[in-house]
Amino acid sequence: MLDIGVEPYLLSSSLTLVVAQRLIRRICKNCRESVTPSVRILESIQSRPDFSETIGVLQRQGVLRKTHDGLAGVRLYKGKGCAQCQGSGFVGRVGLFEIFEVDEDIRDLIMQRKPASFIRSTAIMKGMKTMFQDGLAKAFMGETTIEEVFRVAL
Ligand SMILES: [Zn+2]
Repeated sequence: MLDIGVEPYLLSSSLTLVVAQRLIRRICKNCRESVTPSVRILESIQSRPDFSETIGVLQRQGVLRKTHDGLAGVRLYKGKGCAQCQGSGFVGRVGLFEIFEVDEDIRDLIMQRKPASFIRSTAIMKGMKTMFQDGLAKAFMGETTIEEVFRVAL
């Protein structure tokens, strides 16, 4: 928004929440089945720099049990295709969200015209749940596939 000529003081005094949303396909409930995650998929989650934060976020949300050793025993889901979803395995859409509150610290960064990527990593450090973490939670709960999450949330 700074790029389109909005003065920083206007932006920082009027913004309280920033919401980003991407829609992805929802698994068809009629033909949903649980699948064991492949080693490749587990490794691509585990190799992320925010892996331990991600586990913490999902544990606090109740998606992963606290006793779990990281991703041990997690299940993923897919629709195998049926008449209700015309064989696609998907019906409808589900939103992935990233929401952060503009507090004093963030407000200061906006005033200082810090780059958006810096403001975002500060928000993540302050506990913002990222779009990828929201997607992973929805994949583990069977709302969507892990491939859909990887497609939109990096
Ligand atoms: Zn189906």
